[in-house]
Amino acid sequence: MKIVFVASEVVPFAKTGGLADVCGTLPLALEKLGHEVSIIMPCFRGVPVKKIFNERAKVAIIGKNIKVYCLVNKSYFDRANLYGDPTGDYPDNLERFAFFAHETMKLLKDIGVPVDIIHCHDWQTGLIPVLLKENYGADPFFQGTRTVLTIHNLAYQGVFLKEEYAKLGVDEALFNDRQIEFYEKINLLKTGIVFSDYMTTVSPQYAKEIQTKENGCGLEGVIKMRKNKLAGILNGLDYDQWDPEADDFLKPGYSAQDWLAKKIHKARLQDVFKLAPVSDVPIFGFVGRLCYQKGLDLVESAIEGLMQRPIQMAFLGVGEDKYQKMLQKLSRKYPQKFSVLVKYDEDLSHLVYAGSDFFLMPSIYEPCGLTQMIALRYGTIPVASYVGGLVDTVIDLNSSKTRGNGVLMSSYSVSGLDESVDRALGVYSQKDKLNALIAHAMASRFTWEASAKHYVGCYEECLKSA
Ligand code: ADP
Repeated sequence: MKIVFVASEVVPFAKTGGLADVCGTLPLALEKLGHEVSIIMPCFRGVPVKKIFNERAKVAIIGKNIKVYCLVNKSYFDRANLYGDPTGDYPDNLERFAFFAHETMKLLKDIGVPVDIIHCHDWQTGLIPVLLKENYGADPFFQGTRTVLTIHNLAYQGVFLKEEYAKLGVDEALFNDRQIEFYEKINLLKTGIVFSDYMTTVSPQYAKEIQTKENGCGLEGVIKMRKNKLAGILNGLDYDQWDPEADDFLKPGYSAQDWLAKKIHKARLQDVFKLAPVSDVPIFGFVGRLCYQKGLDLVESAIEGLMQRPIQMAFLGVGEDKYQKMLQKLSRKYPQKFSVLVKYDEDLSHLVYAGSDFFLMPSIYEPCGLTQMIALRYGTIPVASYVGGLVDTVIDLNSSKTRGNGVLMSSYSVSGLDESVDRALGVYSQKDKLNALIAHAMASRFTWEASAKHYVGCYEECLKSA
């Protein structure tokens, strides 16, 4: 099959979140299954691709032979950030990503080899399925081409004022509530959902949740209408990149057979985070963006009770100012027990994953979540809320003796968090149970190969109904 990924960020070229990981890693797994994959992305500032393909794009290669085309436009893409600056989104984002969509279609024709699947990602590519069906509907070059849209986070929808409609470069008549319009505005994610041939999201549980009022971010009705064309496919983890046995940031390494060295990393973690140097108190670690989604308000509400328990907490993250300040205030209030380092630091993240005993993830919603998978790989037991990808990756210790790898909160509340921390403490004091849990955690596997096979199934279904 010939597949082209179109995305606004792709590792190792540009990244602000999990979208980039998926778009840089899933193509490698598809290529290993024998498919021909290429990628199209914007040539943002700092993207280290020099080779010129044509006047529209530069090109690089990843994997065996995956061509990554970077669409060039200095005024749209040569900026300090991808989507905006600290004052907010760039005001011309509609124009920037409409340009990206139109240029993608032109580039596909420049390349000159018809593709089977255009795999679009998030709102930035939501216009492409419209262009394919409407603007290029009669073009023989695209007759066999179908589109798949993956929703990585439903909260980001690409909403713009209707006054900007002309800049989309599509028929005026499409501005109606069954197509591009959503409550008198342009909504590019909705557009992608309505016009794509198939859609996926990044975990089976999130696929269910986005059809509900609570988690549908207003689009639940639109998604439900197309639910027979929706699949939830769990993201994978790159087990070579995240390997406690061969981790450049951790010396000594450790394995699923012998994880004694975790104690050494725990001591260093306490040292770096200025926590009390005691070995018999469990550390609850956290790595992530400091934002609403990650459940930090619940941590704040529960902290007084939590700090009365024999635990330590180590937070690593950057994000919204109010959460940074709140966590810093808590670390001053509870010295040696609660600590936060406000920075993005790859090296330290490995230390938190390896040196913590438990990994705290009380997310309000979590489309897939990567950090709990990494924590499992490092033998650090997730204590997580019952949402999204957490439900698909964390098996509560009470629900399976042979596979339990973590603790799931019974409810999203202070009492739910207290209860899950108490269950974690209960296990921590019973060595056999704790060892079994760590062994199950380290044996958990969420591979890209398995995800890639699911995606191929969706592509095939798409082509069948062509
Ligand atoms: P999201 O996509 O919602 O940001 P994920 O759990 O899918 O969250 O992925 C977050 C990724 O970013 C993980 O690889 C995590 O290790 C990394 N990360 C997040 N914050 C930091 C930080 N402050 N320092 C280092 N790595 C971080």
